[in-house]
Amino acid sequence: AGFSRTWNWIDGQWIEGNPAVIGPRTHAAWLGSSVFDGARAFEGVAPDLDRHCERVNRSAVALGLKPTMPADAIEALARDGIRLFDDDTALYIRPMYWAEQGGYMSVPADPDSTRFCLCIYETPMPEPTGFSVTLSPFRRPTRETMPLDAKAGCLYPNNARAALEARARGFDNAVVCDMLGNVAELATANFFYAKDGVVFTPAPNGTFLNGITRQRTIELLRQAGTEVVETTVRYDDLKKADELFSTGNYSKVVPITRIEDRDLQPGPFYAKARRLYWEFAHA
Ligand code: PMP
Repeated sequence: AGFSRTWNWIDGQWIEGNPAVIGPRTHAAWLGSSVFDGARAFEGVAPDLDRHCERVNRSAVALGLKPTMPADAIEALARDGIRLFDDDTALYIRPMYWAEQGGYMSVPADPDSTRFCLCIYETPMPEPTGFSVTLSPFRRPTRETMPLDAKAGCLYPNNARAALEARARGFDNAVVCDMLGNVAELATANFFYAKDGVVFTPAPNGTFLNGITRQRTIELLRQAGTEVVETTVRYDDLKKADELFSTGNYSKVVPITRIEDRDLQPGPFYAKARRLYWEFAHA
C-alpha cells in the first residue's frame, strides 16, 4: 500500500511522493527531536492556516529546535502547495521541523541542524457520523514530565496506546485524564459536552493541547450567544451529559454518539458548533 498523493516542499523545491530525507544518523529518527502541525484544506478553504503555521514555530522553540521559516512564509508555501492538487481535493497540511544532528553528549538536538519540510497530502474529510468513546487507563503526562507546549512527535506514542487500548475494547476513541484524574482530552482531539443548555470543556491546564479548533469553536459559540464554560471536568460529568462532541483540525466538529454503554444523539449544540465552524471557514 502506498501513500495518497503527496507534495513536499523541502530544501527550496517541491518534491512529489515520500522522499527519503531522514537517515540512521538523523537525530530526530534516533532521539525524537521532531515537531509538526496539522492544518486542513477542503471545499476551497484552509481555516486558521495562519495559526497552525505560527504554532509549529512555537513548538520548534519549545523542543529546542530553531525554526528556519517565518510563519507567514510557511503559510504562503502552503497556499502554493494546495494549487499542486486538483481543485476541491481535501488535504492535510503538515509543516514539520526536525533536528539532523545532536549536540553535547548527543542527547540534546543541535538547533543549528534544524530542517524544515512542508508535507501536503490528500486526505478526505470524514463524514460526521459520530463515534464512541471510553475512559482510558492511560493518563496525560505533566509539564514536568514532557514538553507539552510543543506539538511534538515524541508525545504521540502515549496518545496512540490510548487509542489502541480503546479500540481493543470496541470503542473508536479514548477519553484521557490528566495525572489528577480530571478529564483532559481525547486521544486525538479536544472535546466538549452540553448539560442543561450550557456547553462545558476542560480548562487548559498545561496537560493537553489547547487546540486551535477548540479555541475557534469556543469563540464562535460565545459570539452566537451560547454560554461556554472552561472548567475542571470529571468523567462522571461526561457520562451524565446531554450531548458530547469533539473538535480537532482533522475532522473539525464531530458528534460523540456513545460513551461506554450509553448511546447519545448528535445534539443542537453540536449542530450549532459545526454550522458556525463551516460558516467561519467559508466567510
Ligand atoms: N489533542 C490532540 C492530542 C491532538 O493531536 C489534536 C490534533 N492536532 C488536538 C487535540 C486538536 O488540536 P487542533 O484543533 O489544534 O488540531
